[in-house]
Amino acid sequence: MGDLDGRVALVTGGSRGIGRGICLRLAEDGADIAINYHSNADAAREVAEEVRALGRRAETFPADVAVEDDCGRLAAAALEAFGKVDILVNNAGIGATAVGRPHVAEAEPEAFYQLMAAHAFGPFYLSRALVPQMREQPRGDVVMISSVAAQGYGPTGGTYSAAKSAMEALAHTLAKEERQHNIHVNVVAPGLVETDMGLALVKFTRGVQSMRELDQGQPFGRVGQPVDIAAAVAFFCGPRSSYITNQRLTVSGG
Ligand code: NAP
Repeated sequence: MGDLDGRVALVTGGSRGIGRGICLRLAEDGADIAINYHSNADAAREVAEEVRALGRRAETFPADVAVEDDCGRLAAAALEAFGKVDILVNNAGIGATAVGRPHVAEAEPEAFYQLMAAHAFGPFYLSRALVPQMREQPRGDVVMISSVAAQGYGPTGGTYSAAKSAMEALAHTLAKEERQHNIHVNVVAPGLVETDMGLALVKFTRGVQSMRELDQGQPFGRVGQPVDIAAAVAFFCGPRSSYITNQRLTVSGG
């Protein structure tokens, strides 16, 4: 018996990186997985095959979480395929590097909008679409994948950290509103994680070509991995967190 047997998780941005790690970990714990991706259908299909190899159901769903109609279609398609979604992991996102890491005074409004749309509006659209049916389930979980950027507020990350802060504000409010329905809402805030986004960040900011160049200087002698983040998500969604909601857990090696 797995901790998440009988549950259905929708993981946004499940085709790569942290999202892929979350899909596999929740599947190992017993959940069926609705895998959202943006454009990388092959990668999403591979994750679905990996989930099925663990003995769980998996389906893939293209959608741009920054677009309200896409989120509506995504939620409807996942509910149609699985009958319910009782775990929503808002993981999909783009890094500050994707918009050139400008200083606030030089940032383009369009770039800020793009980050807000992906990190704050996407989770909002999907919560609107999926939380009402979660209230009918014995338990619901919403986990937001934020970032340590929303506590460090370092230079050149202003638009990204503002978008993550908006995401976190939604989570903390939603947690208080939905507790009465046994819906738990929590935030996981990763430090540097070895993914395409993580590598783009350190190439830009530290001029390295490989994460291996950074391992020694990192906590515990290694760069964080998607499994480290996935473990925190699994904890928040599992029975050991039955009296835990409205929490923010930093997973950065301390
Ligand atoms: P990644 O390797 O770049 O993967 C991004 C994932 O999100 C992909 O599955 C991508 O889909 C999907 N995606 C991107 N934009 C989307 C959109 N508009 N709609 C739907 N899906 C979209 O990123 P990652 O490092 O795993 O990051 C995952 C989350 O962790 C992000 O929210 C990020 O801000 C956060 N985070 C990352 C780090 C880090 O160091 N890596 C640190 C702190 C927080 P496709 O495959 O189809 O492109």
